[in-house]
Parts: sequence; C-alpha cells; structure tokens
Amino acid sequence: MIIAGTALAAIIAVQFFLISGLYRLRTRELDDTYRQEIIKGMELLQKQYHTTGFDSAYALIDYVAMNLLQEHSQGPADSALHSSDEQTLSYIYHILRRYDMLTPFLKAYFQVSGMEDDFREYILIREFILLDPGGEIRIKGDTLEITTTKAGNSPYYVNSFRSEGNFYRLDFDYYIDLSHKARIIFRNMTGALLLSFLSILITGIIFFVTLHNMLKYKQLSMVKTDFINNMAHELKTPLTTIAVAAGTLEDPAVLKDAEKTAGLVSLIRQQNQHLGKLIDHILDINLWEQDQITPHKKNIRLKEYLEKILAAFRIENKDKEFKLGESLELNEEQAYLDEFQFSLAIRNLLGNALKYGGDPPEIGFSATIKDRKLLIRITDNGTGIPEKEKEHIFEKFFRGKGSQKHVKGLGLGLYYVKKIVEMHHGTVTLEEGTDRGSVFVVALPL
Ligand code: ADP
Repeated sequence: MIIAGTALAAIIAVQFFLISGLYRLRTRELDDTYRQEIIKGMELLQKQYHTTGFDSAYALIDYVAMNLLQEHSQGPADSALHSSDEQTLSYIYHILRRYDMLTPFLKAYFQVSGMEDDFREYILIREFILLDPGGEIRIKGDTLEITTTKAGNSPYYVNSFRSEGNFYRLDFDYYIDLSHKARIIFRNMTGALLLSFLSILITGIIFFVTLHNMLKYKQLSMVKTDFINNMAHELKTPLTTIAVAAGTLEDPAVLKDAEKTAGLVSLIRQQNQHLGKLIDHILDINLWEQDQITPHKKNIRLKEYLEKILAAFRIENKDKEFKLGESLELNEEQAYLDEFQFSLAIRNLLGNALKYGGDPPEIGFSATIKDRKLLIRITDNGTGIPEKEKEHIFEKFFRGKGSQKHVKGLGLGLYYVKKIVEMHHGTVTLEEGTDRGSVFVVALPL
C-alpha cells in the first residue's frame, strides 16, 4: 500500500513537473511569436504608411516644447521649470498615449493574423530635452516606471523611439503586455492538460479500486478464518460427546444397564443429528450462493402456522429458562410461502433472541397485517447490536465482536433469514430498539 501510494504521488509529481516544463516552453514560444510579429507589424507600418505611429504626437510635442521654452525665457530662473518636471513629463506622456497610432495598428495587425489582440501598451520616457538656443534643458524621465501586471507577466519590449523636433528631443521605449497570456498558454495546452488529468484520474481510480479490493480481501480472509475456527469448535463438541458416550458403552457394566445404554444411544443419535445439521448448513451455503434453492410455496393459514412454529420453539428449548410473549393479531389470513424455509427464518430469529437475549431472555413475538403485508416483530432484552456492526449482521459468516467469545454460532443465521425472506419478496430489517435489546421486523407482501 505504501509502495502504491508512493507510486501515485510520484506520478502526480512527474505530471506536475512535465506540465510546468511545458508551460515554460509554451510561454517562451508565445513570447518569441509575439516579438517576431511585433517587428513585422512595425516594419509594415513604416513601409506602407511611412510612419512610426507617433507622428501626430511629435508635432504636438514640438508645439508644447516651443511654449515651454517661451515660458522659460520669460520666467525667472530654471528652478521654476525644474519644479514642474513631473508635470511636463506627464503631459508629454499623455500626448504620446493620446495620439499613439502604433497601438491600434498592432491590434488590427494581430487580429488579422489571428492572434490575441487584447494587450495593454506601456510607454517609458527615458529623456526629454528642450532645445533652447542658450543650451539644452534636460528633463530625465525616470519617474515613469512600468509596473508589472497582476499576473506577474513581464511586458514585451517593442522598440525604442527617438524623435527630434525644432524645440525638443525625446527618447522613449514602447512595451506591450498581453493581458491574458496565461489563458492563451493554457488554451494551447488543453490537450496535454486533459491527458495529464486523465492519467492521474485513471491511476487514482486503479489505486483506490486495488486498495478497496485488498481491504475487502483481507476482511474476507479474516471472516473466513473466524468461520473455520467456529466450525471446528462446533464440530468438535458433538464429536467429543459421541466419543465419550461410545467409550462408556464399551464398559460391560454399563451395557448391562438397559436404561443407561438407551440414554447413551439416544445422546449419540442427538449429537449425530446435530452434526448432520451443521454439515447441511455448510452445504446449503453453496446452494444459496448459486440461487439453486427452489421454494415450494403453497397457501398457508398464518395464525395456525405461526402458532405451530412458536410451540415447536418452546418444546425445542424446554430445558432453557426464558419468557416468550406472543401476540398474533391474525384471523383467517393466508400467505403463499415455503412452509419449511420460512419457518427456518423465523426459528433463526427466535433462536438469536434466545442466544443474545438478557438473563433470563425475554422474547417478544408479534404478528399483524398492515397495508396488505404480514409484519412480524421479534424483540429481545439483550444488549442489542453495536452501531458499527448493524450494517454487517446480514452478511455471510459475520459474527459480532462481543458474540464471538460467549455465544456459539457460525454467522450464517441472519444470512439465511435474509435470503429466505427475499425469496418470498419480503424484507427483514433491524429496527432501532427503544432501550435494550434488538428488534427484527420481517415484512411479507400477501
Ligand atoms: P451467529 O448467531 O451464528 O453469530 P447470525 O447470522 O445469526 O450468526 O448473527 C450474526 C451476528 O448478529 C451475531 O454474531 C450477533 O453479533 C448479531 N446478532 C444477531 N441477532 C442478535 C440479537 N437478537 N441481539 C444481539 N445481536 C444479535
């Protein structure tokens, strides 16, 4: 299990490693493609329209520069101009952005080339110089910084522009940032992602199915071992009794005593019958498994039938101390059932109430008709069934933890009860007991 778990973790890690490698590769590919396309786009703009895309902006900046220079010549010292460096730069920056033709051109170009055109442009002014006849007035453009995008993408550097007018010189860089870069890359990787997800899913499913089967197999083998131990124990008791009885019979003194001999012979016969029943039980398991038990159903008057079963149960257990309270709210109702099999189911339930009942056992048996169904309730005053065992009690060979030590059994009784009741299209359920004991309810459609 540890090996399988480690293998699963390793597969997930390898898939993660492969996918992240692929993501990096695709990012590089995308960056290269966009860079090449941007260069091509700019060349086209230059060749066909003889512009860099900022010509209108340059004209306006020249005009602004002229005004600035005029202000400067009228103003007191350059301190006045210096104090508004930032304003000047931001003004120039806005002109560049407002009259930028490169961005819409690139967008159109990308669209035509079938590429993602949802990008944002960044302009970084490196230097702006006013060309004053008395000397250059330099305004360093280091205040405008490109902030990295939310997704952590780094914008593409597209080009550095230098422009010189009559009154200014300007250096700035142009960047673009694809807003949905990650989405584009993931879209390109859909196939690989799907395959990787599928392989993890399939491996996971195989892992859990194997684990489930292993646990089931382990549980089954434990149950079988328990069964074999119980069986050996159950078979040994009558065999020992027979051996002791036979040994006693070998004594000539005992043989002479006719009454004693008869008693011993009857004991041997009883134990022999018990052994036979045990063996039949085991043989029956196979027949039930293969659904080879054919019911011999006939119409039976319920009241007399159930009374007979209860009377036989009392006789069978006459040497035990117990109370059996019965309430049969029945009249002439009949049911179509296999007399022998159904009585076996009821006897098993009564037998369990006796085995697992209190000290002394108090068994309740009631039968009534409701909604065209025969409802039989069998109650006892035992310790009941622990919550976590409830869902297992009808399973083949299942024996409660507490029962295994103190009470004899093979874990087959309730398994038979369920099979028999189902053969009659009915249900057997364990009801929530009120205080102590268990309540089994058999419902049989009439
Ligand atoms: P067995 O009695 O041979 O163990 P069963 O199939 O009849 O096998 O019962 C399965 C388990 O269900 C028992 O081992 C016991 O733990 C529990 N059980 C059955 N009937 C009762 C009952 N009336 N009260 C408490 N526990 C019960």
